[in-house]
Amino acid sequence: MKNVYDNILGLVGHTPMVRLNRVTAEIAATVYAKLESCNPGHSTKDRIAIHIIENAEKKGLLNKDSVIVETTSGNTGFSVAMVCIIKGYKCILAVSDKTKAEKIAYLKALGAKVYVCPSSVPADDPRSYYEVAKRIARETPNSVYINQYFNELNIDAHYRTTGPEIWEQTEGKITHIFACTGTGGTLSGSAKYLKEQNPDIKVIGVDADGSVLKGYHETGVLNKNDIHPYQIEGMGKNLIPSALLFDKIDEFVKVNDEMAAYRTREIALKEAIMGGYTTGAVTQGLLQYANSHEFKESDVVVLIYPDHGSRYMTKVYSDQWMAEQGFVNNCVHNYEEVFKTEFVK
Ligand code: PMP
Repeated sequence: MKNVYDNILGLVGHTPMVRLNRVTAEIAATVYAKLESCNPGHSTKDRIAIHIIENAEKKGLLNKDSVIVETTSGNTGFSVAMVCIIKGYKCILAVSDKTKAEKIAYLKALGAKVYVCPSSVPADDPRSYYEVAKRIARETPNSVYINQYFNELNIDAHYRTTGPEIWEQTEGKITHIFACTGTGGTLSGSAKYLKEQNPDIKVIGVDADGSVLKGYHETGVLNKNDIHPYQIEGMGKNLIPSALLFDKIDEFVKVNDEMAAYRTREIALKEAIMGGYTTGAVTQGLLQYANSHEFKESDVVVLIYPDHGSRYMTKVYSDQWMAEQGFVNNCVHNYEEVFKTEFVK
């Protein structure tokens, strides 16, 4: 039988790529988006959840009473919870209080136990979601801590799947890859594989205004002055993850909440791709990069679109939320201008 699977985990990976036709039209290159929302957990994190849990199984670390523990802004949690259901493990997650209520409801619907922790405290504060997860893992017998920020299997999952898929899908023609970096696993693993095939491929990380990653890449120093609160979930950090291979990244671009939000909405309206907030961020990263770098017509650019927009209906897809942020100079409010079309009122 074709396209029939034993369980939902059979659908992970082999995500499609779609050419962008309008949003990046001003760039000479051909631009493709890799739609990680087509994973069954609707994000790129399905890949690492399966890989890390199956690796622990191979090492004999898990049995039927095992508990899987993780810190997560949402996506990794959905993926870990999904894998735990199919494999019969318990799932405990520590999330930041930036996480929207519907994401927490989703995690609970997948059977996870969820602890909500303050995002405003430093990473080494005992109340931070990193420290809470570590403590739970320490205190829970028979548990495995996914530890995505400091687990080299996070990189390895993308080295084995995302990177080779992109190489095959572009028939080796890729010249640039752009991805938002949170743990850094997606970009690092993909870049490691792709640079082995062709060292000339340019790797560009997209960081958040308010995060330390770009500064660290440029100076080797974590500058605490770079840190300030921001709205985009899942990208940027206030610490240096070891899942981020800085030497595989040629350049970082920083994007702000406002431009990433407009771009997310624009992609939905012009390409009919409902992506998460970092979908807008990575696209904004490319457009900013293009201000200071020339692209050729033969260039093939791949953007990682990490997750699905349905997770952001009360955030970036809410006009009220946009207005509350002061994001009002928005093409989204003027549909006629977007499409240069007369709408029947
Ligand atoms: N976008 C979203 C929405 C995410 O949840 C994540 C993961 N934190 C990323 C981008 C970045 O992926 P990575 O952790 O592999 O760098």
